[in-house]
Amino acid sequence: MRRHRNTKIVATLGPASETYEMIRALHEAGADVFRLNMSHGQHDEIREKHRIIRQIEKDLDTPIGILADLQGPKLRVGTFANGSEELIEGAAFRLDLDEAEGTLSRVRLPHPEIFAALEVGARLLVNDGKISLKVTACGADFADCEVLNGGTISNRKGVNVPDVVLPLAALSGKDRADLEFVCQLGVDWLALSFVQRPEDVTEARALAGGRAAILSKIEKPSAVKCIDDILAVSDGIMVARGDLGVELPVQNVPPIQKRIIRKCRAAAKPVIVATQMLESMIDSPMPTRAEVSDVATAIYEGTDAIMLSAESAAGSYPVEAVTTMTNVASEVENDETYREVIEASRRPVRVTVADGIVAAAREIAEAAHIKVICCFTQSGTTALLTAREKPRVPIIAMTSERSTARRLALSWGINCVMTSELGRFKQAVINAARAARSQGFATKDDQIVVMAGVPFNVPGTTNILRVAPCEERLIYASDPE
Ligand code: ATP
Ligand code: MG
Ligand code: MG
Repeated sequence: MRRHRNTKIVATLGPASETYEMIRALHEAGADVFRLNMSHGQHDEIREKHRIIRQIEKDLDTPIGILADLQGPKLRVGTFANGSEELIEGAAFRLDLDEAEGTLSRVRLPHPEIFAALEVGARLLVNDGKISLKVTACGADFADCEVLNGGTISNRKGVNVPDVVLPLAALSGKDRADLEFVCQLGVDWLALSFVQRPEDVTEARALAGGRAAILSKIEKPSAVKCIDDILAVSDGIMVARGDLGVELPVQNVPPIQKRIIRKCRAAAKPVIVATQMLESMIDSPMPTRAEVSDVATAIYEGTDAIMLSAESAAGSYPVEAVTTMTNVASEVENDETYREVIEASRRPVRVTVADGIVAAAREIAEAAHIKVICCFTQSGTTALLTAREKPRVPIIAMTSERSTARRLALSWGINCVMTSELGRFKQAVINAARAARSQGFATKDDQIVVMAGVPFNVPGTTNILRVAPCEERLIYASDPE
């Protein structure tokens, strides 16, 4: 199923999207990667969603990415007897360690270390800052607060304490157990929440041991400060705007988003822009103009992927939200201004043979109106370098590694097709031409550009660039070996 856009869509799964029918509808509407948030689901629920996604992948014969998002040292309230409560400005509200379900006057905050660090006057921000509380009195196992800004508080909403430095480790015991669980299940990406230092990433990478690629969520001021070092040890980045906009003044978020997107492109690593992209679509079938503009802006900036959180996990219009993203992406990508912006910001440092070959592939394909660029890739590196060029011409990544195909589902413009292990280059060209035709990228009268490394199966050997006919008879007639 060919997609007519390059920007990828990540959809978070939750209670609004847990059946085969719904997840398949989300994929068909445009979701390329599904996010499983370890903060919310139990292991058997996560296992079931994982099973359904892999079933859809099989039924539709197309690689689908799965991203497991580890909670990290995020503070969350417990659950409520009624599921949620309406906090009114000026009211008193208590946080404590009591295991009883929450009410209008109190809820559990299961973090004794927070109570130890809190001071009178400190602010507590709940649900990405929508609700704010001020501490009026506190002790070893409680904090009495005044509601400064009211709103709906519900089960397991996140809490930020921007005024207080908290002594928290990067990976909690729950995170380690979740990491092992999802790696055994087989996910493609692991997202790390509240990364502060490159060491946080290397620690998780060692635990994952190559079983999943590592995506660092940038949501702490300290991570923004050492973004270059974090990017260097990560496979991808998420601009996690929810917590970022609570930990830092909200107006700091857009410049940080722009800067991170540029850095990721320079490093040829995928970046996701996340949180509140279509927030009003949780309850409404129509987005606001401002939300559409926000999604469009991220695309103009050259993000690899845009993400839905509660819109697809817990909202009333998950499919409509994905469709909205698909429509915005198609429209922006067809705008000439988009091409101008993308081309003006293309300044890769080209230092390797592979860099030169992907640049040449783009120039040849664009100049000669060739329909598709096909690259053979095992680790995914050549495909990532091609995506960094952001050509006008679609990219097919041919790989025999299923895990590579699934990871690349997150990257701008890459359409993955599974191929058998190859022996001779002519066979590669034939496979590429078949894929280009069967996926609807080219007809037998077109030409394709093929990139590969010979000998095959030696990583980092991209060394051939071939312009080939798409018709098999002509390939046999023209190709020497
Ligand atoms: P994070 O900081 O990791 O983004 P979050 O709490 O903001 O965590 P999201 O995945 O962004 O969670 O989803 C937004 C909201 O959607 C959540 O706060 C929750 O109310 C709801 N939600 C998401 N997934 C689930 C789930 N599996 N079960 C229940 N509610 C969910
Ligand atoms: Mg977050
Ligand atoms: Mg969120």
